[in-house]
Amino acid sequence: MITDIKGLHHVTSMATDAVENNAFFTGTLGLRRVKKTVNFDAPEVYHLYYGDEVGTPGSVMTYFPFGRMPRGTRGAGEVGVTEFAVPEGSLSFWQDRLDQSGVTGLGVESAFGERRLKFDGPDGDAFALVESPPRGRAPWTGQGIPQDAGILGFNGARFVLRDGAATAELLRFMGYGKIGTDGDITRYAIENGNAADRIDLQVVGDAPSAGQGAGSVHHIAFAVEGRAAQQSAREALLDTGYQVTPVIDRDYFWAIYFRAPGGILFEIATNEPGFDRDEDVAQLGETLKLPERYEPFRDKIEAILPPIQS
Ligand code: ZN
Repeated sequence: MITDIKGLHHVTSMATDAVENNAFFTGTLGLRRVKKTVNFDAPEVYHLYYGDEVGTPGSVMTYFPFGRMPRGTRGAGEVGVTEFAVPEGSLSFWQDRLDQSGVTGLGVESAFGERRLKFDGPDGDAFALVESPPRGRAPWTGQGIPQDAGILGFNGARFVLRDGAATAELLRFMGYGKIGTDGDITRYAIENGNAADRIDLQVVGDAPSAGQGAGSVHHIAFAVEGRAAQQSAREALLDTGYQVTPVIDRDYFWAIYFRAPGGILFEIATNEPGFDRDEDVAQLGETLKLPERYEPFRDKIEAILPPIQS
């Protein structure tokens, strides 16, 4: 049993166009770009991080904009919806704003008694804004978004699976408890977490397998405070038979990865050291940051990557 998971740390998805992706998340959604770096395994591709003022774990949406790449196809075995929390009463503001920005897939729904506005990201990514109490989080109010509407961080994520049993067992092992059902969706939450603490399992027995591509979630990362908790989690997972990677230094956090039974790639990431490790909070995300091993190739890398303003 793992006892130290706090909720989500970040969600990482794939995109086509870096400039369009940046404009959508910083402009339309008004998040802050808290880091501009590269995919550490493919440095000709950006890794862009968007979140609140400091990139608090539980607020951070990240992207690999791969350029030309086919769109993913929705189905089972993936994160079906990534959910941001927004203040209660703000959905009509968001509906107007997204509609005026030409965002597609808009629709108001409700689940578990919460009002939600679903919408598509630039590559058909499936998102929802969910009205939620602040629970200790401050909204980020970039781009003229008022205090009473700013995104608070993640609410959680909805997984689409053909069979939820093994994933439910894994979530319980990670410290999540079942808190309710609504139709074909079962909700799990973590106690004393970071407020990005909901995971919904939607079981669709006859869903086709998801095909990963642009607009698909690449992996979902869960937060632990530090390296000792991560080490305990790694050992607990190995003992249970999961194949877990060694600890990998991602400069702003340490990461381990393993595949969940339903097919989704899970990561456990540390809250330390954080995104202000190599930049002042006031300048987060402004300049291209490279891991040390790629510094010698900075000129080449900068020549390949499309320039991103603001
Ligand atoms: Zn990650």
